[in-house]
Amino acid sequence: MKVINTIAALKSLLEPIKLAKQKIALVPTMGALHKGHVSLIKIAQQQADVVVCSIFVNPTQFTDPKDLEKYPRPLEHDMKMLQEAGCNVVFMPSVTEMYPKPEEWHIDLGPAEFLLEGEFRKGHYQGVTQIVKKLFDAVNPDIAFFGQKDFQQVLMIKNMVSEFNLPVQIVSCPIIREDDGLAMSSRNIHLSAEDRENALVLSKALTYVKDNFSTHSIPVLLEAAKKLINGTPGVELDYFTIANGATLLPEEDKKHHDIVALVAAKVGQTRLIDNMILN
Ligand code: AMP
Repeated sequence: MKVINTIAALKSLLEPIKLAKQKIALVPTMGALHKGHVSLIKIAQQQADVVVCSIFVNPTQFTDPKDLEKYPRPLEHDMKMLQEAGCNVVFMPSVTEMYPKPEEWHIDLGPAEFLLEGEFRKGHYQGVTQIVKKLFDAVNPDIAFFGQKDFQQVLMIKNMVSEFNLPVQIVSCPIIREDDGLAMSSRNIHLSAEDRENALVLSKALTYVKDNFSTHSIPVLLEAAKKLINGTPGVELDYFTIANGATLLPEEDKKHHDIVALVAAKVGQTRLIDNMILN
């Protein structure tokens, strides 16, 4: 496994691979790796010749400076996980490598940018697409893998790719969960034992909605899910929605395909998101 810190070194490593027509995959991460990240690498390995995993805690996508500061950075653990996963290249640039000078970034990501996470984390998807574009420029991947865990993020990245007409295929990979249903997240380490227990209500509410989707109306499902979450101590709901998977607007017609339930809540001091595709 090669560990690379600069764009120049990365390009000189990958250019001959690209010229040899080998397929290059990119798995962008912010580190603090868990089995969810590893699953992306494993899926990437099945579809490409060389897998590049980037670790970069991107400052421009954080709306809360405290959140950026306390973001976990367990470097040794990450290297071990990547080695064991059989990752070929780790790209781990510094902030100045990725942002050598002040720069403006604003692209049209469509109306869904401002919904859900975009409403609670203003400018988040501008920051996300800014760094993903830079990573695409550095790696020049044929294919890039993202988790369905960040459902809206995948949508925004697909919109960015189509806005610039980039020659990269975007793949959304299934959510990996703990045995009890909690979606794996780098932020879960901030949960106290009590938070950890309370956080289960998010996947429970989503599962309830999924299990009852064919028999109950959308308003009834929403009410039950919100009641479950609001009745859990230490959990502060930001949103629970049943939405159209393409527009993220509230869905009213169960006959549509591509319907997804999405939730975000603060559990103790930690903000968590989760979702489930319903049909
Ligand atoms: P992050 O390091 O949190 O930015 O995540 C890096 C990538 O891993 C993103 O594409 C996430 O959607 C994905 N990811 C995070 N958690 C999970 C999970 N539990 N299952 C699958 N993919 C995940």
